[in-house]
Amino acid sequence: MSKKVFEALKWASSFLTTADRDENAGELLLRHFTGMSRSQLFANVREELSPEVWESFEQAVHQHAQGVPVQYIIGTEDFYGRTFRVNPSVLIPRPETEELVYGALKRIKRLFAHKDKLKLADIGTGSGAIAITMKLEEPLLKVTGTDISPEALMVARENAQRLGADVDLRQGDLLGPFFGEAEKLDIVMSNPPYIPVGDQAEMSEVVTEHEPHSALFAGKDGLDFYRRFMVELPKVLASQALVCFEIGAGQGEVVAQLLRNTFTNSKVEIVNDINGKDRMVFAEIGFGE
Ligand code: SAM
Ligand code: GLN
Repeated sequence: MSKKVFEALKWASSFLTTADRDENAGELLLRHFTGMSRSQLFANVREELSPEVWESFEQAVHQHAQGVPVQYIIGTEDFYGRTFRVNPSVLIPRPETEELVYGALKRIKRLFAHKDKLKLADIGTGSGAIAITMKLEEPLLKVTGTDISPEALMVARENAQRLGADVDLRQGDLLGPFFGEAEKLDIVMSNPPYIPVGDQAEMSEVVTEHEPHSALFAGKDGLDFYRRFMVELPKVLASQALVCFEIGAGQGEVVAQLLRNTFTNSKVEIVNDINGKDRMVFAEIGFGE
């Protein structure tokens, strides 16, 4: 049995609504299986889908109804205008993290305008979204992405290659890969796990049953990684440095205070995301007031 484009979309939207999922996922999935853009799809609503396309689409809609994130089904997510491969070994990059990248680029231009050799590390790189985007947006940066998960690094490596980004990717625990390096880091960025374990019960199962828990959860209050950073950062940072963290909503003040206590010569800023939630903390260290 086959269907026309509009019939397929209509079916998916009502099926997904009944399953309590985002009804727009149908359009994303159909675009994936037909290879059509949004406007092509809507210009061709009366076109008949081939039986193969309909079958793959129907199966994908069922998968999403059961909770599998659309991005894992289609295997990609867009980030900062580029398409990244994703699979269940990596967190699906979030729009909030694009704001972290934007904030970092802006500050790097202002703080380091005079320097042309800058070392940046993205800790917990996952799909490589931050590391690769920073390198492609600011090619003079020497970028290293790290992750504790070898499976995640494989995804990051594939993305770096496909997108043509010359980034170094290393496996290791937090800042461990940089201990003992003669050349210090000018910029450290990280979107570490920051969700308190106790929050799991209130989260969508699309996230908790499919995305890696090692990418999401960070102890009782979600702050475990920031506390570890305070011990490890002083060992690897240059005397003038920029630290850019993504944080969970409500963690801004505590993380900012941790940074101020660790780096008494720093200017620390908490920045809200477009939804008005505290989402980023930037510390400019050693630049004077
Ligand atoms: N940077 C990616 C992004 O923003 O989309 C992924 C961020 S995800 C929230 C956190 C990442 O940190 C995961 O890829 C996870 O494997 C990694 N991670 C967890 N514990 C780590 C550790 N001790 N050292 C290094 N990376 C770690
Ligand atoms: N923003 C992600 C979420 O809400 C969490 C990412 C993280 O812990 N760093 O699912």
